[in-house]
Amino acid sequence: MDVGLYLHFPFCVRKCRYCDFLSFPADEELKKIYAAAMIREIRGYAGTLEGRRVDSIYLGGGTPSVMNEGALKSIFRALGDSFDISPKAEITMEMNPGTVNTRILSFVFDCVNRVSLGVQSAVGEELSHLGRIHTAKDAEKSVRLLRDCGINNISIDLMSGIPLQTPESFRQSIQFAVDLEPSHISCYSLIVEEGTEYARLQKEGRLPLPDEETVSGMFHDAKTCLENAGYRRYEISNYAKDGMVCRHNVRYWKRGDYIGFGIGAASLFEHTRWRNTRKITDYIDNSHEPGRLVREMEQLDKKSEIEEFMFLGLRMDEGVSAEEFRSAFGIPIGDVYGDVIDEEVRKGLLIYDGERVRLTDRGLDVSNMVLSEFLF
Ligand code: SF4
Repeated sequence: MDVGLYLHFPFCVRKCRYCDFLSFPADEELKKIYAAAMIREIRGYAGTLEGRRVDSIYLGGGTPSVMNEGALKSIFRALGDSFDISPKAEITMEMNPGTVNTRILSFVFDCVNRVSLGVQSAVGEELSHLGRIHTAKDAEKSVRLLRDCGINNISIDLMSGIPLQTPESFRQSIQFAVDLEPSHISCYSLIVEEGTEYARLQKEGRLPLPDEETVSGMFHDAKTCLENAGYRRYEISNYAKDGMVCRHNVRYWKRGDYIGFGIGAASLFEHTRWRNTRKITDYIDNSHEPGRLVREMEQLDKKSEIEEFMFLGLRMDEGVSAEEFRSAFGIPIGDVYGDVIDEEVRKGLLIYDGERVRLTDRGLDVSNMVLSEFLF
C-alpha cells in the first residue's frame, strides 16, 4: 500500500487577517534551523516505511515558498534517502503569488510537479482587506513563470464570503481563475475563526461580510461557472479537469496512510492518528527523536474509523462505496447506517443506489448537518 507525506512550513511574510493556521513571520536564521530540524525528523523515520511506496508529497503551510531553495533541496535529499519515493509521485507545493521568484522556481523545477497557488480573489480591495501580500497581477505572472519552468499542473485557491465581496466580484474572481487555465480550482468559504483579527473585528461589528444567503448563492455560482468551464466538482470545495484531482487530498478523504513532518503536522498511519508538537522550540530541540514530538496520539477503534469513513468519504462527489465499507469493516453499511441513510434519502439529501451513498445537490447545501448524522 502506498503512503503520502506532508511537510509543514509555518512561515509567512506576514499574517493574513483571517488566518488561524499555524503560521507566523520568521527570519532567515530560524527558517534554516527549522529546515535542519525537519531533516533530522525525516531521517529519524528512515526504515519505518519499509515495503511502502510514497506516491504523494505535499508541502503546505504557512508558505513553503518563503523557504530557502537550498534548504528545501536538502530536505528532499533526506526524503529520497529515507523513503522509497515513486518516480510518478505527485509532488505539490503551496505557493503565495507574492513569493514566486527565480530562486524558488529553481527548486520547483527540480523537485515539484504540482503547484497550489493561493490567489483567493482577483479584486484588489478584497485582497487588501484579507491582508494578502499580492495582487491579481502577481497571480497572473506566477502562473506564467510556473508554466515556463514546466509546471502544467497548477491549482488555484479562491475564497467566497470574504469582506466587501459581492456576487459580481466573486464571479469576476472565478472568471479570472478560469482564464488562467489551471488544471484544478479549490473554492472555500471564509470562516471567521476565534483568535484572528477578523474575529475581533466581527465582535466590534466592523467586518463587512456578505450575508448568508449571498454566500450560499456564491457556492452555487462557483459550481455553475466552473462546470461550464469544464471543471468537475469532485469534492465539496474542489474542482478539477479530467484526471487532475489532487491525489494527496483524495488520500485524506479516503483515509489512506500519511505521515506529517514539521510543527503541528498530523499523521494517520496503520489505524493510529497523531499530531506533532505545535511549539517550534520543542520541535527544534527534539527532532532528533521523532517519538518525542508526538502529541495527541490516538489508536482508532472501529467505531471512530467507521465515522471517519463516512464523514470524509461523503465529502467526495463519488460518495462512499457499500462494498468498500463491507470489506473495511466486515459488516454491511445498512446494518450500521440503514436508518440514517433511509431518512436522509427520504429528505432528498442523500442518494443510495445499493452500491454507493452520496450527497444530492440539496445535501451539499447542508452538508455539515448531513455529515453529522453519521457520528455515533
Ligand atoms: S499566507 Fe496562508 S498561512 Fe500565511 S498567513 Fe496568509 S492565510 Fe495564513
